[in-house]
Amino acid sequence: MKVAIDGPAGGGKSTIARMIAENFGFLYINSGNLYRAVTYLALQEDVCWQDSQAMIALVQRHHFDYRPDGAVEVDGKLLAGELRSPQVDAIVSQVSAIPEIRAQVNSIIRSISEGKDVVSEGRDITTVVFPDAEIKLYLDASAEIRAERRFRERLAQKVSDIPPRIEDIRKNIEMRDALDAQKTVGALKIAQDAIYLDTSDLTIQQVYEKVYKILRARIAHGRK
Ligand code: C5P
Repeated sequence: MKVAIDGPAGGGKSTIARMIAENFGFLYINSGNLYRAVTYLALQEDVCWQDSQAMIALVQRHHFDYRPDGAVEVDGKLLAGELRSPQVDAIVSQVSAIPEIRAQVNSIIRSISEGKDVVSEGRDITTVVFPDAEIKLYLDASAEIRAERRFRERLAQKVSDIPPRIEDIRKNIEMRDALDAQKTVGALKIAQDAIYLDTSDLTIQQVYEKVYKILRARIAHGRK
């Protein structure tokens, strides 16, 4: 079974996907982590992200895999905090707008997911990566709430010695939202057959209760 979740940054996708993966025993594929890993490698190896050929070659010379909790390994090495740096945040949406990079990422995700029960989240999972997913969700929230959630996450993660600033996070989220909406390939859209949930006024537990009921109902229906 495939559960596909899309929505903007801070809508609750990764927390909900992780909860589904843990409770239902699904593999968790966080597609944003893969775009972040490619961006991180470009920065590390001084590859110019505007040069699509160099970016394609960069993806080809590394091996990407997922751990069950949605974390990404590159050539067997776990990448975690480094994927959340302000440097990665600043250009990941531009990197993910390169159509060839999207094709490479989609093919990695599909090949890792083949034959498995998977919960995958991102921006184009319901529309492009798994258009036939049995369950499609779109998790949304207001920009203020999303920035606040990311701010609290960043404080807890202590990604850098410089404390995060909520204004910077909000600006970055708005910039990424705008770029994600304009992408020529894989733009963020609400799939016609997706269930839309506004999580602004809900706790994560409340969101999960709704999602859990949807999954249970679909699974029971599928077994009849
Ligand atoms: O999900 P996260 O915010 O970590 O993703 C980082 C960036 O990767 C997003 O801002 C978006 O531009 C891009 N992305 C994408 N398609 C996906 C997942 C992420 O374009 N399926």
